[in-house]
Amino acid sequence: GLSIGIVGLPNVGKSTLFNAITRAGAEAANYPFCTIEPNVGVVDVPDARLPVLAKMFNSARIVPTSIKFIDIAGIVKGASKGEGLGNKFLHHIREVDAIAHVVRCFEDPNVTHVSGRVDPLSDIEVINLELILADLETIERRYERSAKAAKAGVKEAQVEHGLLSRLKEALEAGLPARSVAIEGDEEARVLRDLHLITAKPVMYIANVAEEHVANPFAVPYVAQVKELADREGSEVVPISARIESELAEMDDEERAAFLADLGLAESGLDRVIRHGYHLLNLISFLTAGETEARAWTIRRGTKAPQAAGVIHSDMERGFIRAEVVSYDDLVTAGSMAAAREAGKVRLEGKDYVMQDGDVVTFRFNV
Ligand code: GDP
Repeated sequence: GLSIGIVGLPNVGKSTLFNAITRAGAEAANYPFCTIEPNVGVVDVPDARLPVLAKMFNSARIVPTSIKFIDIAGIVKGASKGEGLGNKFLHHIREVDAIAHVVRCFEDPNVTHVSGRVDPLSDIEVINLELILADLETIERRYERSAKAAKAGVKEAQVEHGLLSRLKEALEAGLPARSVAIEGDEEARVLRDLHLITAKPVMYIANVAEEHVANPFAVPYVAQVKELADREGSEVVPISARIESELAEMDDEERAAFLADLGLAESGLDRVIRHGYHLLNLISFLTAGETEARAWTIRRGTKAPQAAGVIHSDMERGFIRAEVVSYDDLVTAGSMAAAREAGKVRLEGKDYVMQDGDVVTFRFNV
């Protein structure tokens, strides 16, 4: 499944946020085969379409799709040299799909700041430098070998060496690997194999004081982070980790009232999830029947057989066609039968590119 690693300096609110995530945790019954480690939290991706479908199809249960958060503690100044938890965190962070970088944007004289004062831009720089140094080490381990092979005329090595050289140059200039333009499938493959940390998409989670949560971008610290994120092509999601930990304790009704009181449409965690989806270019398709109404995650651009494969590999192997209706058309029609009558249910073949909110039945040979 999809995973997001939470990083940030000590005392910025990571644990507070992560605890809120684990307490808001997805219903364990939906994930029977996933062993939950202490630094892993799985949450449901909220989807207002599911209860509507469940009602229409008389489904016995709702199964949302989920997202995994991994708490990556231990990044401090010098981490890339093995200080703090050093290499242990690097291992975890290499495996995630995206990075949520928590930045302290709240003042509180009772909470010590590692460098003595609140300064989000310098905090970001400290963490990013460690990640860049870790990536440089990865590159340097392959650099000489690829240079030799490239000189000897090995074609793949020439592609690899070309990319490694550009990556090295960017990293040495203090820029992340994601700032380097990738040319062609071969380079894309080399890049994937490198598992570079700074190649991953990033969102900055600006942790603001409770009183600023309704209008966070008015906080100068948050505005600074936003400016940096805009330059990098990253996103900023302001939250209050304190409020999130309170929300995690409430039931649905209390939570809705509390959010309305704060003037918020959704919780910070839901916003983090939504931005994570966006960052990773993900969409959901839906299935519905008497057993369950369910959402499934795919990358934008996925074709019907591969989407079927997310449900079961047999369905991809034996794919015949997909019966597809968009959620909006289905709801407008009022029922599957009515949608069919209105000509809104399409039969799609193996080249069909799935759309967000497609309600699908796959036909396949077993
Ligand atoms: P971590 O080291 O990044 O995991 O940070 P923690 O989540 O342990 O938070 C460090 C301290 O900051 C704790 O005492 C938290 O209660 C406090 N803290 C976290 N978020 C907020 C916040 O939004 N406002 C205030 N005033 N304190 C916070």
